[in-house]
Amino acid sequence: MAKATHSYHQMEVLKKDRSVARARSAEVKALDAEYFGVKDSILTGFDLHGDYKKMKRRILKVLGGTATDWKDYKWHRRNRIGSVKVLQEIIHLESDEIADIEKTGGQYRWYISPYYASLMDPENRNCIPSINEYMDSSEIADPPIIKYNSPAPLISRLYPDRLIINVTNQCGMVCRHCLRRMDIDTTDVIYPKRMINEALDYVRKNKEIRDVLLTGGDAFSLSDSQLDHILTELDEIPHVEITRLGSRMPCSLPQRVTPELCKMLEKHDPVYLQTQFNHPREVTPEARKAVNMPDQGGSYRKGSDGPSERDQ
Ligand code: SF4
Repeated sequence: MAKATHSYHQMEVLKKDRSVARARSAEVKALDAEYFGVKDSILTGFDLHGDYKKMKRRILKVLGGTATDWKDYKWHRRNRIGSVKVLQEIIHLESDEIADIEKTGGQYRWYISPYYASLMDPENRNCIPSINEYMDSSEIADPPIIKYNSPAPLISRLYPDRLIINVTNQCGMVCRHCLRRMDIDTTDVIYPKRMINEALDYVRKNKEIRDVLLTGGDAFSLSDSQLDHILTELDEIPHVEITRLGSRMPCSLPQRVTPELCKMLEKHDPVYLQTQFNHPREVTPEARKAVNMPDQGGSYRKGSDGPSERDQ
């Protein structure tokens, strides 16, 4: 039997790598310790509900809405905030901030749901265009992910057994950290049914696809009936075992999670929701209600016990 000649070298490499990994682990552990040190003093949207109510009143006044409007996600979508003039009526902006918003917002689209605007404070401005979005010093252009990984309309496929259907380019708000900036584009687009059908056909014809993520944009931007149609088609494809929805609306526009939406989703057991919260102020009673409501049906699963997030 030929003697292995590489094992000693591999051990050496491993030792070297392991020392790098240990240093990195220590860094991560320190971060965790820092968090646990302050965890109990972090104020969430529950603690700050008084601020939220005050902001809500101010926003309703600026936008000419009522308390009933506030409960209606369609009102929020019709009245999303996307101009400096309106934003200035809600929060104080310094003149350099205004210039930054105009410069960055002219390049990268922005809008905020009135609900999410009520969660803004000087520490939570992750919905407002920032000059930092221009500060990538690497000068490396974003890779043309869509161009090279879209074998059919609206599809992004990077892995053998799973893919994304980008069913919409609309969201509850445009998050400044969004990795899908190019998909969000410069204006709302309603994709024709033909494109959705071609994407579904691609899934039908490629039998190794067992996991489909509907996202965009934000999957909950579609109407209940549009989502129902796509989910029904996917349910009928035998090799699709997992259907996931990518939506940030439980955080950015929790009013969108209605009993009607949940009832429709219950028909498509199992459907997994993958969502994201990025700031303690986002953890509000409204968000909790949105996250818990689907559980009442029992068949609509939240992301934490769902499959990997690797292609979110
Ligand atoms: S909701 Fe998702 S897709 Fe839409 S802007 Fe935010 S991160 Fe991007």
